[in-house]
Amino acid sequence: MMESLSNHAPNPGVRTPGAVAGTIEVICGSMFSGKTQELIRRLRLCGIARQKVEVFNSALDVRYGRNHIISHDLSKIPSHAAKTSHEVLEKVDPATQVVGIDEVHFFDEGIVGVCEALANQGRRVIVAGLDQDYKGEPFLITARLMAVAEFVTKNLAVCVVCGNPANKSQRLTHTRKRIEVGATSKYEARCRRCFAK
Ligand code: ADP
Ligand code: MG
Ligand code: ZN
Repeated sequence: MMESLSNHAPNPGVRTPGAVAGTIEVICGSMFSGKTQELIRRLRLCGIARQKVEVFNSALDVRYGRNHIISHDLSKIPSHAAKTSHEVLEKVDPATQVVGIDEVHFFDEGIVGVCEALANQGRRVIVAGLDQDYKGEPFLITARLMAVAEFVTKNLAVCVVCGNPANKSQRLTHTRKRIEVGATSKYEARCRRCFAK
């Protein structure tokens, strides 16, 4: 299969000798921890390596229009919006070598099997998503993906209260919906000590 797929690891300098099967990489952490930035960085490197890359985001995430993923420092790359995990599988071009998915926790539970199917087809799958909700409870989709992934990166943000490393997303509004899509002003990064449930 495609020679370029031997470059598997998040660090492009690290190669898996002789590997032809695909892999799953998970980039997780709180809001503002640089998940999207890191996803974009890895996907851009694939582009430099002339690999065919496709990026998906959930159609639920309408924050910035549906045809880009964008980080808080405003770097962005084009993406396809998908309503369901099945749609991701259907929309992937047969020639695509690297599949990126941002905000993976927005998808239905089928996304775990879809990522496995894409990796089993020999593709490099890179997903980014929240590991915990605003209560500090795990997002099961991200947890499951971490369990089956070859590579897991856990990012930390900076606690806006004390400046320590932060792994929690503090919700600043009073809604109880688990997912509140919207302005980043509704959340801030907090460390374990400064996080108020
Ligand atoms: P995520 O996708 O994890 O929400 P992004 O990749 O979109 O994060 O954005 C990360 C960027 O957010 C950082 O590089 C920094 O410029 C900015 N930022 C704003 N607030 C914080 C914070 N409290 N801690 C860390 N980075 C922050
Ligand atoms: Mg993000
Ligand atoms: Zn703190």
